[in-house]
Amino acid sequence: MNEPEKILSLAGVSKSYGKINALHDVSFDLSAGQFVGLLGPNGAGKSTLFQIISGLFAPDEGAVTVFGQNYANDPAEILRRLGVVFQERSVDLDMTIKENLSFHGRLFGLSGKRLKDRIAEQTDRFGFADMQDRRVRQLSGGQQRKVEIARALLNRPGLLIMDEPTAGLDAPSRRALVQDIRDLATESQVAILWATHLVDEVEYADRVILIRDGQVVADSTPNELKDMAGTADLTDAYAALAGTSENG
Ligand code: ADP
Repeated sequence: MNEPEKILSLAGVSKSYGKINALHDVSFDLSAGQFVGLLGPNGAGKSTLFQIISGLFAPDEGAVTVFGQNYANDPAEILRRLGVVFQERSVDLDMTIKENLSFHGRLFGLSGKRLKDRIAEQTDRFGFADMQDRRVRQLSGGQQRKVEIARALLNRPGLLIMDEPTAGLDAPSRRALVQDIRDLATESQVAILWATHLVDEVEYADRVILIRDGQVVADSTPNELKDMAGTADLTDAYAALAGTSENG
């Protein structure tokens, strides 16, 4: 049997801010079509990891390989195939859905019919087809988040990294978004790394990477994590393995 294609690979990644050791010897892989949760309490190092995976800065030690490339050799090739949704919302509220998508698509070199088709592909996926001319400000928080995700998918990325993408959403919108993104991984074979401190969001992930104090403390399926901790539910397993309280 063929090995699944490795989309992202981290080997021995460490990063300090002065005396603060934000990441220490972090290693893991992601394959095509996987929805993987990066679960850890605030301050665990998730955002730092995302900044390194998106090439914003280099680790002090270790190697990051995306689509078989590294940022020192071919940053443009990686960025062309990477989708990023950062924690802070970054869509323009005064532009319409279409204007936001169109602007971003052009940054990726899309134009004409190709751009139009890609925008249609994403607005259909997220149910925006009839409201493309609406200003983003008029949308609910969940819809604004979807516009941002639609935008990140315009270039049909092979890897989508999402840093606490449900921040500020209510419980039903959170659940719906998790479901949408899990379906996306399966249907489009995108590899997805979903960072969160909320256990229920990764309950059905293919794998959960547990991170605490900058170190990976477990990298397993949700069921394996429960077995490892000897608990019946994932919240208790998280508390036992990452030493967190429920609110993480
Ligand atoms: P998370 O996203 O899991 O909350 P972060 O990556 O933001 O974790 O933070 C990891 C550690 O690094 C924390 O101790 C945090 O205070 C520290 N840190 C993050 N960014 C900076 C920075 N720019 N300068 C100094 N310390 C930082």
